Amino acid sequence: MARILIVGGGIVGVASAYFLGKAGFQVHLLEREITLGSLTTAASLQAVRAQFSDPANIAFMKESLAFYETFQEQLHLPGHEIDFHQQGYLFVTSEEATAARQRERVAFQHAHGLDDVEYLEGEELHRRFPYLAAEALAATFRQRDGWVSAHEILLGFKQAAGRYDVHFHLQTEVLHLIARGGRMQGVRTKEAAWEADMVVLAAGPFTAKLARTAEVDLPLAPIRRHRVVIGAHDAIPHWAPMTIDEDAGAHWRPEGPGAALAWAEPEVPSPPQRHVSPDPNFTFRVMEGVYRLNPFWLDVAETLRRDNIFLHAGQYTVSPDHNPLIGPVPDRPGLWVISGFSGHGIMATPASARLLADLITGRAPLDANPYAVDRPSLAEAEGEKMVL
Ligand SMILES: Cc1cc2nc3c(=O)[nH]c(=O)nc-3n(C[C@H](O)[C@H](O)[C@H](O)COP(=O)(O)OP(=O)(O)OC[C@H]3O[C@@H](n4cnc5c(N)ncnc54)[C@H](O)[C@@H]3O)c2cc1C
Repeated sequence: MARILIVGGGIVGVASAYFLGKAGFQVHLLEREITLGSLTTAASLQAVRAQFSDPANIAFMKESLAFYETFQEQLHLPGHEIDFHQQGYLFVTSEEATAARQRERVAFQHAHGLDDVEYLEGEELHRRFPYLAAEALAATFRQRDGWVSAHEILLGFKQAAGRYDVHFHLQTEVLHLIARGGRMQGVRTKEAAWEADMVVLAAGPFTAKLARTAEVDLPLAPIRRHRVVIGAHDAIPHWAPMTIDEDAGAHWRPEGPGAALAWAEPEVPSPPQRHVSPDPNFTFRVMEGVYRLNPFWLDVAETLRRDNIFLHAGQYTVSPDHNPLIGPVPDRPGLWVISGFSGHGIMATPASARLLADLITGRAPLDANPYAVDRPSLAEAEGEKMVL
């Protein structure tokens, strides 16, 4: 059977190794760091949702969340917990125009098979979510959305991959790709040349940089994003869903006895980085951001101790239409890519890695792939704009 090299051992690369191993390939995954999942995967807010507004994304996330709901059965790993908290996702607005868009979006989602999203407004919204500010006008809510442990998911895929001809190589940095006559032959690390029939780029923010070593320009850019975790605090409603201010984009969710917050602020692309420096002022900005529709955050902010704040930053890998690139690279036979997940890589992993394996085996037709590397929307640059 053909031999495949996967470059990158984040959640996406490890899940791809599992699905490709299961499909019968010999797989070698090469990861630069001393451990798997230490780059973008470790920086994630780990939230997962099916509430999208593009039919392909809805189907994709529904598949992924269903996989997470049955993770132990899917991977035959009884007792392997991935901490799937299905406390829901609540997109809240104080604007009439956004409320009108939410109503339309929910009708569209229902028409496209996502029939458990609720549109809430007025008294019902405040009865069910009493921590919201009085000006909260309307919201969409789906109970089966929530958050997971990306680390436990990655470990589950790795363990399940161990049943197949799959091999993980840590501290193995790929320096460049090797092509002969345009066809991929393998990759070069410091120690050796690795030969293969196919190379899969799953290197997160480093994907485009690696592709350039084979003279391929992928439309992917790394953009810094922050996450703040607040330790235990009594003012935080721990039963709450992921709560997003849909007008501004700031969002928060419970995290154990504390909370995790994020906000996809406008930021210019930066070179890919192994260590991303956070902006210390982000903590104050995001608290001000979530305070608008969640006033209890004022109580938290006023009584917060410095040693109860954990600030991290990582990089989204962003494509022009904010959807991933999954599939063969045109004009480079043997080169495949699975990257560009923006803020959705944890939630999209099972369906994405399954799709990659199906495209490689021919089970999924290349011409029906919504995430093809040469799809027109990448040039048009107007995809599903997301607030997170
Ligand atoms: C602040 C923040 C919050 C987020 N929140 C969410 C969220 O709530 N929900 C969600 O679904 N997604 C979220 N995301 C996005 C999600 O984290 C990513 O989409 C996902 O982790 C991408 O996984 P990956 O495996 O593609 O990339 P990575 O985790 O970056 O893995 C790439 C791997 O490739 C390795 N690598 C790179 N170059 C080389 C090389 N030359 N040789 C060998 N190895 C190499 C790296 O060391 C790394 O381990 C968030 C991201 C950020 C930054």
